[in-house]
Amino acid sequence: MEATLTLPGFVNAHSHAFQRALRGRTEGDDFWGWRTAMLDVAEGLSPGQVRSGYVDVYREMLAAGYTAVGEFHYLGLAEAQEAVAAAEEAGIALVLLLSAYARGGLARSRQESPAAYLEQLEELRTAGARVGLAPHSVRACPRDWLEELGRYAAAEGLPLHVHANEQPKEIEECLAEHGMRPIELLAETGCLGPNSTVVHATHADAHELDLLAEAGARVCVCPTTEANLGDGFAPVEELATRGIGICIGSDSNVRIDPLEELRELEGIARRQTGRRNVVPVDALLSYGTREGAAALGIDTWADVEVDLTHRSLAGVDRADLEAALVFGCGADVFVA
Ligand SMILES: [Zn+2]
Repeated sequence: MEATLTLPGFVNAHSHAFQRALRGRTEGDDFWGWRTAMLDVAEGLSPGQVRSGYVDVYREMLAAGYTAVGEFHYLGLAEAQEAVAAAEEAGIALVLLLSAYARGGLARSRQESPAAYLEQLEELRTAGARVGLAPHSVRACPRDWLEELGRYAAAEGLPLHVHANEQPKEIEECLAEHGMRPIELLAETGCLGPNSTVVHATHADAHELDLLAEAGARVCVCPTTEANLGDGFAPVEELATRGIGICIGSDSNVRIDPLEELRELEGIARRQTGRRNVVPVDALLSYGTREGAAALGIDTWADVEVDLTHRSLAGVDRADLEAALVFGCGADVFVA
């Protein structure tokens, strides 16, 4: 038997690399308490710290089998340039998903107008970065921003990523402001299409899931972060049965392990349904690779090598190898 097996590299469709600094920290009674600690970290970062910190995080991703990453970035333009440079230095393919932020959060995350935001995006693109639009959330972007960014992404054929339905409070606020739920607002403002990825969708209702399916939009599920922050359970079976494309993200980078994300995803579905094999293994692996690449708008990304002599794979039949990877291995099974 050969000593290694080549697989398509895993694609991390949603990362905030700076949040890796919060690993092992436990403050914050809920998501909103954690967010305060997270924003404290974000506020103090210099471009130089972004550069050196992100190189380490991207190297950790590569060692774990991720060969491409979508960095959802809300720390400012100079720091976005450093994130792009850090990925080059580490050797990971990166799509810079530049966050648009109109209100709330930190001053460094905000732009004056959609036009000022698009100017930043084009500056990165002109410098050679692969980019996508990322209205941060319906909390951070009002209706007119969403409309303008949705139009621009469609016209330019660029990916559009947006957080939605991670926490019940965000849905209540959206209902109060707009009289509709977040994914309904995204549909109405032109932010849902085949190049769109909704991050989380944890608390999406049946109508919102139907809208995602009709639009051909994807959902990025981030199970280890969603567990860590007490977000809830992604509606895995409801997404899968509607044929909605699912991809994975390490998000807060509390864990960096694509196999664990996929195992959690199927584990959630099994706990919810009381059945096994809710999502077949080949589909799970596709979520971890091809769907992520499609969400980021990339056609090529590096492969990974599995160490077939690893102790986690001892005694496993060749025919069961892929299932054994997802259900019985950690990211140390990849040849770094
Ligand atoms: Zn996020």
